[in-house]
Amino acid sequence: MASPRIVTREIHLASRPDGEPTLDQFALVERELPEPAPGQILVRNTWMSVDPYMRGRMNAGPSYNPPFRLGEVMEGSALGEVIASRDAAVPVGATVTHFQGWREHAVLDATAARIVDTSLAPAPAYLGALGATGLTAHVALTEAAPVRPGDTVLISAAAGAVGSVAGQLARKLGAATVIGTAGGPDKTAKLVSDFGFDIAVDYRAGSLHNQIADAAPEGIDVYLDNVGGDHLEAALDAARPGGRFALVGAISGYNATEPVPGPRNLFHAYTRELTLRGVFVPSHYHRWPEWIEKAAGWLADGSLHTEQTVVEGLDQAPAAFLGVLRGANIGKMLVHLATR
Ligand code: NAP
Repeated sequence: MASPRIVTREIHLASRPDGEPTLDQFALVERELPEPAPGQILVRNTWMSVDPYMRGRMNAGPSYNPPFRLGEVMEGSALGEVIASRDAAVPVGATVTHFQGWREHAVLDATAARIVDTSLAPAPAYLGALGATGLTAHVALTEAAPVRPGDTVLISAAAGAVGSVAGQLARKLGAATVIGTAGGPDKTAKLVSDFGFDIAVDYRAGSLHNQIADAAPEGIDVYLDNVGGDHLEAALDAARPGGRFALVGAISGYNATEPVPGPRNLFHAYTRELTLRGVFVPSHYHRWPEWIEKAAGWLADGSLHTEQTVVEGLDQAPAAFLGVLRGANIGKMLVHLATR
């Protein structure tokens, strides 16, 4: 059956940033969509994700994905409802996740969409705790830097999407003490009151090194690094012999205009025989079903607390993205595009 003609709106990259991005580097553009071809679907996007890694794709040089192209629509994770389908495997009415975010509608190959089970959890959870950020926490703390019973665990950007799930997961894995860092008194209070951290460190409120030493006088066993820079150095100083570090992200350097130097105290890795292991979540998508089953169970029984910071409307998506880079979010930053 032919689908209705749809004029949609999308966000294009208008120019590349030099340092911190600004709103004028994004453009809201209207475009008529082609009809889906055989094997394709038309999706009305209801939610989209804005993520720190997108900053790297705004640069001309390659990050781990090719750069966004100037004057063309950006992309990223999104969730929506199938409103026309030319593939029986993904029928009209299905809720799907896919990678054509930053637009209100998307025509894509059915094979590029993943049907999600909204009876397990509310749909937007599939862009957060049940999505790539939740999976990243899971891989970091079970594979890259496995938490063992009795461990002292430190997590940076702990009030964010990866960090807020990671703190609770560390506890479920048997950590004795879970410490989180975040910017400002409101976020640090929330780490303890809502996200189950034992101790919260406000990195803006004084020496990170001293605050972590006070929080973990006998040192840390595991560090999940979302921030890099000063946080990674402070964690290296605090590491116990045999400590394990999951290197997940380095957001403190994403707007840097020069290459960011490595930690000045990496020698601790040799003398204390630390393991530092990177996490690149696309290499671990095979673990998604296992994670969804676990995390959806915890969401349902109330033992995993998640939050979202929601911004309304595609026109506000660039502001939401700049907000993530500046710490405007608690939990997962999402853009709500339409009601299902
Ligand atoms: P998020 O934590 O929800 O949001 C980013 C947070 O970073 C902000 O809320 C802000 O919180 C903090 N931040 C910003 N600048 C900072 C600075 N200079 N120093 C300390 N904190 C700073 O984002 P997310 O999606 O969960 O991602 C967290 C990290 O994981 C990012 O580095 C991201 O690139 C990475 N990541 C990696 C993978 C992978 O496959 N390796 C997958 C997903 C995410 P405050 O208010 O506390 O400063």
